[in-house]
Amino acid sequence: AERPYIVGNWKMFGTRAMLSEARAIDRAAQRYMKVEVAVAPPYTLIHAVHREAEQIGVGAQDCHPGAEGPHTGDINAAMVADAGAKFVIVGHSERRQDHGETNELINAKIDSAIEAGLRVILCCGESLETRDAGDAEAFVLGQIKSALGSFEDPAERLTIAYEPIWAIGTGRTATSADIEAMHKAIRGLLDETYGAEASADVRILYGGSVKPENAKEILSLPEVGGALVGGASLSAESFLGIVVAA
Ligand code: 13P
Repeated sequence: AERPYIVGNWKMFGTRAMLSEARAIDRAAQRYMKVEVAVAPPYTLIHAVHREAEQIGVGAQDCHPGAEGPHTGDINAAMVADAGAKFVIVGHSERRQDHGETNELINAKIDSAIEAGLRVILCCGESLETRDAGDAEAFVLGQIKSALGSFEDPAERLTIAYEPIWAIGTGRTATSADIEAMHKAIRGLLDETYGAEASADVRILYGGSVKPENAKEILSLPEVGGALVGGASLSAESFLGIVVAA
């Protein structure tokens, strides 16, 4: 199977004091080469983490879809690549909610990321309301479907992260059965779209309250190729607890 991929999403946490955690994560990752480890710090730390990192990948949590221009406060894909990012997270539910991001905007971001030579972690996930209505699978597959046409070389460029909104930062994880069913459905869509061979190289991460205590169970599920970790990625100790479980 694929090398597991464990990615820390630091969200809007972290000042330069966090660089010691990044260093500790990087050191440990050098001893766990069977796992691919990465972090997505806030923009302000991308270059500093990149300079510290010998082993781990560094990415951005978002990017503006446009070329450089008069957009006060925005940062585009070429700029994060220049700062040392190798990937960008797009479509996180917090961006969809806090900033009204649509699938259309997310597609524009994906195009700009690919143009800048970045890999993409495309996030998807349903609200509790959608799950309770029995529409979770159709909703999540719809989110992904609208983006798949942007990838000419999915095996090289694309990672998917399934993050049920109600499991993010709540301490509540989806059941193993729920995770397995959704990941299998996503794999089915990837197989159908790209063919089994290219699909096999696209990892599907799970995210939502992944912790050292539940990581082993989640990461051993079929079609779970790794984890996108929020809160537990903010300390090297807990993040590495997840890495060693992979
Ligand atoms: P938590 O691990 O804090 O639930 O966050 C998950 C997430 O949103 C990662 O992108």
